[in-house]
Amino acid sequence: MTQTLTQQTLSHYINGQAVEGKSGRFADVYHPATGEVAAQVPLATAEEVHEAIEIAKQAQIGWAQLNHQRRARILGRFVDLAHENMDELATALSNEHGKTFDDAKGDVQRGLEVIEFCMAAPHLLKGEFSDQTGTGIDTYSMRQPLGVTAGISPFNFPAMIPLWQAGPSLAAGNAFILKPSERDPSVPLMLADLFKQAGMPDGVFQVLNGDKTAVDALLDHPDVEAVGFVGSTPIAQSIYTTAAANGKRAQCFGGAKNHAIIMPDADLDQAADALIGAAFGAAGERCMALSVAVPVGQETADALVAKLAEKAKNLKVGPSLDPTSDFGPVVTAEAKARIEQAIATGVEEGAELVLDGRGVKVEGHENGFYVGATIFDRATKDMTIYTDEIFGPVLTIVRAADFEEALALPSDHKYGNGVAIFTRDGDTAREFTRRVNVGMVGVNVPIPVPIAYYTFGGWKASGFGDLNQHGADAFKFVTRTKTVTSRWPSGVKEDASFIMPIQ
Ligand code: NAD
Repeated sequence: MTQTLTQQTLSHYINGQAVEGKSGRFADVYHPATGEVAAQVPLATAEEVHEAIEIAKQAQIGWAQLNHQRRARILGRFVDLAHENMDELATALSNEHGKTFDDAKGDVQRGLEVIEFCMAAPHLLKGEFSDQTGTGIDTYSMRQPLGVTAGISPFNFPAMIPLWQAGPSLAAGNAFILKPSERDPSVPLMLADLFKQAGMPDGVFQVLNGDKTAVDALLDHPDVEAVGFVGSTPIAQSIYTTAAANGKRAQCFGGAKNHAIIMPDADLDQAADALIGAAFGAAGERCMALSVAVPVGQETADALVAKLAEKAKNLKVGPSLDPTSDFGPVVTAEAKARIEQAIATGVEEGAELVLDGRGVKVEGHENGFYVGATIFDRATKDMTIYTDEIFGPVLTIVRAADFEEALALPSDHKYGNGVAIFTRDGDTAREFTRRVNVGMVGVNVPIPVPIAYYTFGGWKASGFGDLNQHGADAFKFVTRTKTVTSRWPSGVKEDASFIMPIQ
């Protein structure tokens, strides 16, 4: 592999090779565990983006001509290569993002599962056929690639989300341009190299590093047919609006505030363990992290808070590659400052601070971006620690008197990504899953990220657009339907007809 964290200056990946940035503009890439700058990533100009789009456009023609199985075989080889390089990928990912090594492997693995699913694209791309839709007439449809598609991805899953965006696009015969997060760009560059090794033709999968300038260049270019975005809600909404105004397809996924409802009949130990992992794993930097717990009834709340506080205070925050760390640092010094500010605001707003993760020091890593596990109890609906996404290791508890009050909280919240209910009662679970106004639901499962052959997507301010990521939806997003009405006149059996046929 050509790109690793040890390189001081990273590159783009254009037309099958690492290419130096020409803009002279760079962003620092940090090693959050130590606080040091680990590398510099180039920020592409609009011209560099336009060049890559032209290369993609040419490369796509041959790629779309390949039969489905040949494209699928290249994806299969990519999956094998990624497994062979798993430790290297996970180490780079863990170093730049700050999540633990095992969690970083999960990031890669969940991305590869979607690539494996995409190897079944021949099945998903089948059209429909109706015989004899008129006398001597057949009607059939085919799904065809769009051309060049682009993905803009967030820092928190630098392997999984680029692979979710790229897999269906590539399998369907499109060329794909990735604009990854500038916070952790090494893994996307490594993935590009692995695609090349797997036999992907040059120019079909490219990585353009950059910021708003690169994104705007993708959004403004007429040859980019579709844009997938994952990141914060304000940017998701703005990209959705611009892409639509420019005549492009767009699917844009935003922020979250995922609730866990804990019913009085739940197994509280199981629920508390699940909450700890889902609230503090990856330092809370997951769009499906559980950031709000809603215990139902006074007794449930008192018992749950006691268990959570006991478990959370024993968690070890430390360097991401230290196998004894339960979770690592947050991604940047700004993220740490923002999260600590949100905690201070929660105190000012009057929530009860049960556990305070501010000011945590990790020996030997004093400049790392660490925030410890934090728990607020007795928060209310009007507090910003409840209304806003914090995206850090902060769990906010809002007590509910009964099921209806608990159900209303996630349903009325502006975000609608994921939600979970903990109960032993099937009827309660069924009622909840049917009525809750949220896109992905877990029943005694804290982080209900659907498997590759279902679709992933939140509701309300968590998702803009009608088609979700992966599963069958993704193939609709990256293809368009052509419908053919076909008649083969029999020159031998009939003379030419000059009247409108009556069927
Ligand atoms: P972000 O919005 O800051 O950045 C996402 C991407 O947008 C990056 O590639 C970035 O370079 C680009 N970008 C940033 N500002 C831009 C601008 N003004 N114009 C154009 N592009 C811009 O998000 P992040 O901090 O990288 O990721 C965390 C956020 O992503 C959280 O809100 C999290 O909930 C969300 N997220 C959502 C999902 C989901 O599926 N709903 C999944 C993962 C993360």
